[in-house]
Amino acid sequence: MIKKITAIHGMHDYLFPNTLIWKNIENTIENTLNNYGYQEIKLPILEKSELFKKTIGEYTDIIEKEMYTLLDKNNNSLTLRPEGTAGFIRAIIEHNNFFQNKRFWYNGPMFRYERPQKGRYRQFHQIGVEIIGLKSPYIDAEIIIMINNIWKKLNIIDNIFLEINSLGSLKDRKKYVKKLTLFLENNSHLLDLKDRRKIYTNPLRILDSKNKNIKILLKNAPKLQDYLNDKSINKFKKLCKILNFMNIKFTINNYLVRGLDYYNDIVFEWKTTNIGKGNSKTICGGGRYDKLINKMSNKKINNGIGCAIGIERLILLVEMIQSLKIDIKYLVDIFLIPMENNHILKKILVIGELIRNKFPKLRIITSYLFKNLKKQIIQANKYKSHFIIIIGQKEIDNNSIIIKNLFLKKQTIIPENKLIFYLKKIFY
Ligand code: ATP
Ligand code: MG
Repeated sequence: MIKKITAIHGMHDYLFPNTLIWKNIENTIENTLNNYGYQEIKLPILEKSELFKKTIGEYTDIIEKEMYTLLDKNNNSLTLRPEGTAGFIRAIIEHNNFFQNKRFWYNGPMFRYERPQKGRYRQFHQIGVEIIGLKSPYIDAEIIIMINNIWKKLNIIDNIFLEINSLGSLKDRKKYVKKLTLFLENNSHLLDLKDRRKIYTNPLRILDSKNKNIKILLKNAPKLQDYLNDKSINKFKKLCKILNFMNIKFTINNYLVRGLDYYNDIVFEWKTTNIGKGNSKTICGGGRYDKLINKMSNKKINNGIGCAIGIERLILLVEMIQSLKIDIKYLVDIFLIPMENNHILKKILVIGELIRNKFPKLRIITSYLFKNLKKQIIQANKYKSHFIIIIGQKEIDNNSIIIKNLFLKKQTIIPENKLIFYLKKIFY
């Protein structure tokens, strides 16, 4: 028995027509981002491990538990990227790109060693946007409005809700964390072992715990909002005003803290309750990281904001509510059937190239099955073809071509030199 080699747990193959839905969603998102003047940036999937430790924060779930880290042959510690912002910041610093375009997007796979379940995988994909060097709340609003437009185009706007919060400055947060730690210490007997450890590593993460008892306990905990400086409060209020002005629906969730350390001030997430059972799932999350570039380089560059959309979760949602009408009645537009004979085969090669050249968007397949015509037509049907073109010796002798509409079951014979004219009438 040959042992079957399977894919890695939590890493998936995507087959047709899922790939078609994926492409459609990707196109909708990328077109919108381009429409707002964002430029694509392609980044490596492997980075030096220290990059992530330094940016994401040592005591976050990602760094503590979820990294795919390996040693290369030279004993360098490398990590498969768990998210896109760290690599983006590294690239921006390396390319001195600060004063050119300030708006970017990326699209690609991310890797986290998580417990796989619906909407949570070990390899998943994100399309992320990043803006550097701009600090106005209008920029925060621009990202939110733009992403909101993507939900509208995908017809999922009614199945997704936006939550926003302000984390204040890193300084405010430090002050607050001291108070929170004290509170949690005094109540540590109510926490489980995992959360007890977080008191000293990342107490903020306890705030977005899903545990019911902790949620009750937190009602009496000090509130981050009481520690925010005036500037942060004003920025947050301004953003809320702009969003109201633009009729963007949102709620303020003071427990929204996000899983990465680098955020300050505005954080936001779009969630849905339409995927899987139980808690809502986040489709897109992000926030400001105004000090991150400074922290990673000597350059005095302030301000950054970004967010990332989880593509697999978005696809699950789109499929769940069937918001995208993708026409997959036909998977092939024209199925070419030559009878077996060198002369005819050469002819079909030429005709195939001609049609593809004139109709670059059509899907055209040539059959090389060489079985009898009936079997080939069965094959064309299996492929979900719209039209078949048949050329046999008789057609060669007459300079003609048989075209059959498999859907209408109608067949016509046309002169070979009228083929393109005929196809234009059908496909234009
Ligand atoms: P969660 O709280 O669900 O673990 P997160 O805060 O870790 O999410 P981010 O790091 O903000 O997620 O990533 C942005 C988006 O990427 C998420 O909102 C989600 O849609 C998607 N995402 C994150 N982790 C995974 C995963 N393991 N599998 C699939 N999608 C994911
Ligand atoms: Mg996570």
